[in-house]
Amino acid sequence: LVSRKKHPENTIVEVKGERIGDGNQYFVMGPCAVESYEQVAAVAEAVKKQGIKLLRGGAYKPRTSPYDFQGLGVEGLKILKRIADEFDLAVISEIVTPADIETALDYIDVIQIGARNMQNFELLKAAGQVNKPVLLKRGLAATIEEFINAAEYIMSQGNGQIILCERGIRTYERATRNTLDISAVPILKKETHLPVFVDVTHSTGRRDLLIPCAKAALAIGADGVMAEVHPDPAVALSDSAQQMDIAQFNEFMEEVRAFQRQF
Ligand code: PEP
Ligand code: MN
Repeated sequence: LVSRKKHPENTIVEVKGERIGDGNQYFVMGPCAVESYEQVAAVAEAVKKQGIKLLRGGAYKPRTSPYDFQGLGVEGLKILKRIADEFDLAVISEIVTPADIETALDYIDVIQIGARNMQNFELLKAAGQVNKPVLLKRGLAATIEEFINAAEYIMSQGNGQIILCERGIRTYERATRNTLDISAVPILKKETHLPVFVDVTHSTGRRDLLIPCAKAALAIGADGVMAEVHPDPAVALSDSAQQMDIAQFNEFMEEVRAFQRQF
């Protein structure tokens, strides 16, 4: 169902008036995790000022260590909903268990399925049974074929509103947190009719590489770029080394948009 051969037209995923996949390039920005209303509001204000509609923030955090901050759960979703209403933004947040898919419908505009859950087939099926866009991230060690099959799981249940997101894969290279597989973008665009985003934060894990990697993503034809922004990354409860502060975010947007105007 996701194959371009069967369905040559681009899928357009509508999120609060944004038409993802329509040839424009979108940005999804926001903190790694929802920590408080004030923290998300500070980022939302900056995102809004940049004319960006899509705000991200994790309420359920799939952390490597069980002793790390696990997210605010449904309280986090409630904060996102309040922010979305107050700032007229669309919010995207990760859901990690099929039981929470229904709950998510009331609070968020896009359900994110994270890298660690790309092959959680029950979660994929549950997300396939609701009428809500899904942003599906590539697994840490997933081949492109496995990634496409994960999208097929969602679509086979009836939900065709899927955005694919390349977020880096695990290789022997340690200079970056993961290895951004930039060629996955044109391959996914060729093999499927779905919009393709690139998460520059989790793929690189390095703040100094966000701008060049975002430029590469846009130049190669990505439909959107995701990156993390926190009002004070030094005290962030997760991913503190890689999130941009507000000033860095504004600089990022300026440079990346200047680059976009060149082509
Ligand atoms: C995230 O985007 O919050 C996240 C945890 O990313 P990933 O699933 O790609 O690691
Ligand atoms: Mn993160």
